[in-house]
Amino acid sequence: MSTNTATPVKIEEKLFQNRYRVDEGHPHISLRDASVCRDACKDKVCTFCCPAGCYAPDASGGVTLSVDGCLECGTCRIICAEHQNVEWWYPRGGYGILFKFG
Ligand code: SF4
Ligand code: SF4
Repeated sequence: MSTNTATPVKIEEKLFQNRYRVDEGHPHISLRDASVCRDACKDKVCTFCCPAGCYAPDASGGVTLSVDGCLECGTCRIICAEHQNVEWWYPRGGYGILFKFG
């Protein structure tokens, strides 16, 4: 039987190894209707399911979205199934996440 002696690595440390190229003025994800987030969506699951923390509750009861650091995992697109309020595309070529593997 083998024993795993590897040093644990925190998710924040792994994410820090990635690089993100911002496409100014061309966010690849947007909210279709901010009022839906504010008025119709009770649970706002995007604010705790996004692994990159791109969604955050705002003071008006809605959410703010910043795509910087987005991992392109697609979770927000799926998790918003009830309201279908996430417009989602991959970033344009040359922009977005640059993963460091290993
Ligand atoms: S889950 Fe969808 S509708 Fe609800 S706050 Fe997030 S983006 Fe808006
Ligand atoms: S695609 Fe993934 S990482 Fe990007 S904003 Fe959505 S949940 Fe967050």
